[in-house]
Amino acid sequence: MNEISQIKEYARKNSIPIVMDKGGEFICRTIVDRGCKKILEIGSAIGYSAINFASLPDDIYVRTIEIDIDRYSRAVDNIKNCGLENRIKITNEDALDALIDEKFDLIFIDAAKAQYEKFFEKFKHNLSENGVIITDNLFFHGMVENPQLTHNYSTIKLIRKIRKFVSFLQLNPEFLTTIHDTGDGVSLSMLNPDFIQPEYTQLSLEDKNVSCSPQLSKEIEYGNKVYSVSEEEHQTGLFSYHKKEDYFVISLIEFYDRERIKITLMNMLMFVRKDAVKNGIHLIKIKLPSDCFFDGIERIGLSPCGDGMLVHKL
Ligand code: SAH
Ligand code: MG
Repeated sequence: MNEISQIKEYARKNSIPIVMDKGGEFICRTIVDRGCKKILEIGSAIGYSAINFASLPDDIYVRTIEIDIDRYSRAVDNIKNCGLENRIKITNEDALDALIDEKFDLIFIDAAKAQYEKFFEKFKHNLSENGVIITDNLFFHGMVENPQLTHNYSTIKLIRKIRKFVSFLQLNPEFLTTIHDTGDGVSLSMLNPDFIQPEYTQLSLEDKNVSCSPQLSKEIEYGNKVYSVSEEEHQTGLFSYHKKEDYFVISLIEFYDRERIKITLMNMLMFVRKDAVKNGIHLIKIKLPSDCFFDGIERIGLSPCGDGMLVHKL
């Protein structure tokens, strides 16, 4: 048995999670096809995936982080036994505390599933211009699709977090993401070339004199759902939009955290704008309860017009 198969066998016997064969192949193919040279991995476990990546023919450098000391130590031994000390740099720390300022062609997020969004937000700054971020275990052994497979409360909570992360990816205007039904479910995200970084301007609630009328709340609740961004949009239930006489109305269906609303609204606007242009519509009205107003609204071309309403002129 060669070194890699031995590591795999050890992982199986000791219940150490390692990337599934198909998921690993997908990543290796991505590395080769895109010519990735520098890889950052969050969650090394015993070094199995890092060793696989670094063993691909070519000069690949892997930087990997593992929080658990025992797994880290075993990974160090495994890397040494494979003669890859020069190609893999591993550290024992919490990835969320790690100070890394290099850029990478591929970032593989495979650590604590509940923290994926945090890892993503932190390490997106380490992505090279044409780089990709891959995350693993989005199906979580089929449980994300079929939550009835478990009755364990913490697993159910985790599944919810993974779902939330998937919708974060799908709605994130900064990245173009595809979800792949391979291995345990992997995502591949690359920077969206059309994304414009928001320049935040302070928008104070008091100044704009906005409030949410009861009638408006009702409309939000019963908003006539004609379109929505995606299937996912129904699930997260953030916005719907529909056509009125000569304008579009975007309504918020469900309150979420401000950050999420901001991202989704920007995404929704990009989507609605296209449809508006096609239909010769020049005005988009957006209804939000007053507590949803957020900084940076002006950046996306909106101006408040009282009564929980924003307008966007095309
Ligand atoms: N990529 C590995 C498997 C990783 S399993 C492979 O395919 O071979 C996930 C690992 O992430 C676990 O070993 C866990 O200890 C580690 N981990 C969890 N949270 C972490 C964090 N905040 N920082 C670094 N590692 C973390
Ligand atoms: Mg994994």
